[in-house]
Amino acid sequence: MSERIIPIVDHHYAASVPSVPADTGSAPQQPTDRFHRPLHDLRISVTDRCNFRCTYCMPKEIFDKHYEFLPHADLLSFEEITRAARVFMALGVRKIRLTGGEPLLRKNLERLVEMLHGLRTPEGLPPELTLTTNGSILARKATLLKEAGLDRVTVSLDALDDAAFRQMNDVDFPVAEVLRGIDAALAAGLGPVKVNMVVKRGTNDAQILPMAEHFRGTGVVLRFIEYMDVGNTNGWRMDEVLPSQQVIDRIHAAHALHPLEPHSAGETAQRWAYDDGAGEIGVISSVTRAFCGDCNRARLSMEGKLYLCLFATHGHDVRALLRGDPRSGLTPVSDEQLRAALAQVWTARDDRYSLLRGTAAGLAQRAERRVEMSYIGG
Ligand code: SF4
Repeated sequence: MSERIIPIVDHHYAASVPSVPADTGSAPQQPTDRFHRPLHDLRISVTDRCNFRCTYCMPKEIFDKHYEFLPHADLLSFEEITRAARVFMALGVRKIRLTGGEPLLRKNLERLVEMLHGLRTPEGLPPELTLTTNGSILARKATLLKEAGLDRVTVSLDALDDAAFRQMNDVDFPVAEVLRGIDAALAAGLGPVKVNMVVKRGTNDAQILPMAEHFRGTGVVLRFIEYMDVGNTNGWRMDEVLPSQQVIDRIHAAHALHPLEPHSAGETAQRWAYDDGAGEIGVISSVTRAFCGDCNRARLSMEGKLYLCLFATHGHDVRALLRGDPRSGLTPVSDEQLRAALAQVWTARDDRYSLLRGTAAGLAQRAERRVEMSYIGG
């Protein structure tokens, strides 16, 4: 058994304060990046804490009782998040996803949902509001979130078998409670409810068919995610990746499937439907079928650092623009200045790690210290 190197992690990721262009008026309304990709989805991580210790995301050996989570004062307030979201919507964002850590651990999250739901696009519409959760406390929160304006939820669930699930979350949390949360989300009308299963060959791939059979005919859209080399702590190996095509083949052998068209540009999942009408599934294949070509996602961390890719090595300190920074003498900027600064950051974006994985450029990026998924959400 090869010895596993466990790096010490802290949250002080490299980040720079975006510069504010002198002429803010010339900033594009709908900026596109170096590959002509617009900005459409904003993922906002609201906490670095989680009550699970999934081995591919927040391994217990690192995120242990000595681990220093961020003090509350470092987190963006709901008012700051809403202000930033309003400015991102002026740049083209139409969909906001709340993530974490585990977002439902952030107190009164429904209050933030209500504030975000009150925002309007230039066309006068509210943003599409979604949330990714481990489902552990969803049963208690589903109705409150719906009433506050949340549209949909995605629940992470890596196994149906209780023992296998407890092993994956590594805190002995029962699967029944997450299934109860999914039922509560369905009952509250937070659908279509999506369930994301990270497939790790040799760990939980035997759960693919039981999961598919459990959710067939329920209206829940089950998606299988290829195990990714995110962050620096999960000890990722290529031989633990089960290519999505093999997932499809396994299910097709039991229940015939056919491919579906994507809902929209930038969609991460390839959609498949059961021939017998029992619903649809999806596969998210960052390793074997990169989808960087139309990636229109930005990620804002709980302390206001903006990342332009899940595998980024560098962030942009938006909080310093919102609050000012006494160390540098920076004073808080106006919305117009913030919009121009963010447009400039997006316009310079050239991230496409999954497309480069395995190439010299990809290996060089892999050698650098990358942001953790538990810090910016999946
Ligand atoms: S690797 Fe980065 S650029 Fe590519 S799809 Fe993922 S987040 Fe987008």
